[in-house]
Amino acid sequence: MTRLVWIQGTQLTPTNGALAAADRATDRVLLVESLPHIGRGRLHRHKVALVLTAMRRFAEELRADGWQVDECRLERGLGFVEAIAEGVDACGATEVLTMAPCGWQAQAALPGLEATAGVPVTVIDDTQFLCSREAFTTWAGDRKRLRMQEFYAWMRRTHDVLMEDGKPAGGQWSYDPDNRETFAAWKRSAERSRPTPPPAIDRADPVLTAVQADIDRLLPGLPGRAEDFWLPTTRAESELWLADFIEHRLAGFGPFEDVSDPNDPWLRHATIAPLLNIGLLDPLRCIRAAEAAHRAGAVPLASAEGFIRQLLGWREYVNGVYWREMPGYAERNELGAHAPLPPSLTGEARTDLACVQHVADVVERYAWTHHIDRLMVLGNLMLLLGTEPKAANAWFRERFADGYDWVMQANVTGMALHADGGLMATKPYAAGGAYLKRMTGHCASCRFDPRRRTGDDACPFTTLYWDFTARHHDRLAKNPRTAQAARGWERFDADEQTAIRARAAVVAQGIITGTL
Ligand SMILES: Cc1cc2nc3c(=O)[nH]c(=O)nc-3n(C[C@H](O)[C@H](O)[C@H](O)COP(=O)(O)OP(=O)(O)OC[C@H]3O[C@@H](n4cnc5c(N)ncnc54)[C@H](O)[C@@H]3O)c2cc1C
Repeated sequence: MTRLVWIQGTQLTPTNGALAAADRATDRVLLVESLPHIGRGRLHRHKVALVLTAMRRFAEELRADGWQVDECRLERGLGFVEAIAEGVDACGATEVLTMAPCGWQAQAALPGLEATAGVPVTVIDDTQFLCSREAFTTWAGDRKRLRMQEFYAWMRRTHDVLMEDGKPAGGQWSYDPDNRETFAAWKRSAERSRPTPPPAIDRADPVLTAVQADIDRLLPGLPGRAEDFWLPTTRAESELWLADFIEHRLAGFGPFEDVSDPNDPWLRHATIAPLLNIGLLDPLRCIRAAEAAHRAGAVPLASAEGFIRQLLGWREYVNGVYWREMPGYAERNELGAHAPLPPSLTGEARTDLACVQHVADVVERYAWTHHIDRLMVLGNLMLLLGTEPKAANAWFRERFADGYDWVMQANVTGMALHADGGLMATKPYAAGGAYLKRMTGHCASCRFDPRRRTGDDACPFTTLYWDFTARHHDRLAKNPRTAQAARGWERFDADEQTAIRARAAVVAQGIITGTL
């Protein structure tokens, strides 16, 4: 009796639950490169190159480990269902084994796969998260608001991470208040004078080269350039990448995690999400490595805790929210946002807003940018403009090497756009030019003045921030965390309010049509 073990492209780990349930002696492994799936949006080519190269390298890893592995390559042009049905026929499999897909749409397609393949499809629980979907649902219970901080404390206790005698190390769960250095502090710091980008990878690797040629041939015109590819594609390279971060950047992660610097796209971020999200790195190993570095005295508690909070807290939490709230969550649009995506983000136009143009260029080059660029530049722009949540989600999914629905819904729909009405964030993350000037180095080269609300040189973020406050005044006034902003709007006289709203209409139109 042979079973077909379908390994999905985001599940490239030897701890994949479907492999654990299979038998090397009798079962066959199948990896499918689905051209219809990959080609359905305009994915950044680094995302495609990363996943395909990592799949081909994982196939080699499994063969070396004694598995019989088949690969359905891109050039066959088959979709998942056809390729799996063909694989079942070819080896006479009586069952398909696979791990639960990481996205809702793929999960919903499984019954169709079963019908076409003509054999049962057994779905094994996802082993790539520390908190299972069921455990999250139990934790969430009937809570009206799902607060990350509460979930994170529960995860710290459950997994015994940074705990001392049953209490959080140092006496606090979060050192976030210590981790809010400004751009000026970053500029003065010794950290900035020792730039430490992630290590270079071997771009001449033959598997990567073959994948790049396939992309040129079969998926022409994707955004991004082959020569800019910069990510590891194997587990061994990914482990080195993680070790490099722990040694060189983790100590500075905490204090400078909220800063954005036009001269340093990485700052002290780990740049591991693209690897974690396809199984090349294991989240618990990353967490334990950071904890060990702190216990060895190499990394301050605030930095280790800050990094661990992202992984054990945020990453697990957004996955939990996703599976608890989907599919309805993707339909949420609580602020009634219907504007299209600004063309400066798709490369169809350039913008005079220095921060937006810089971040768009970084994304175009690396298919990645760090959290604060995503939240406070890109997400903030979309929030203030009222960008339609589905268009925003699609853009993040296509353009980021780590962009997957499970992680974007809560981050984009919830955190950045507040389209869930505050299910996960206590307030909309709206900010004007003053915030961007304090936390980023972009304003120095920008023609706009962050202090001005009206006039041709007023920073569009400042103008749009006040316009947003006016549009959602009643909602903001009721929330203690945003009531001050609502009062700020009330303090402007009627002429000032009219001038701001008129300028906001011009600015929004300019950004949306690509003329500003
Ligand atoms: C609008 C928006 C869109 C985002 N889209 C994605 C996305 O498509 N894919 C994605 O993986 N992350 C996304 N994030 C979360 C976060 O910004 C990225 O995980 C992070 O920037 C990746 O870079 P890094 O690996 O250097 O992370 P670091 O800053 O070094 O953090 C370490 C790790 O913590 C995890 N993490 C940190 N913050 C979050 C978070 N808010 N949600 C989930 N995990 C988190 C990631 O796995 C990350 O690799 C998004 C955030 C926002 C605000």
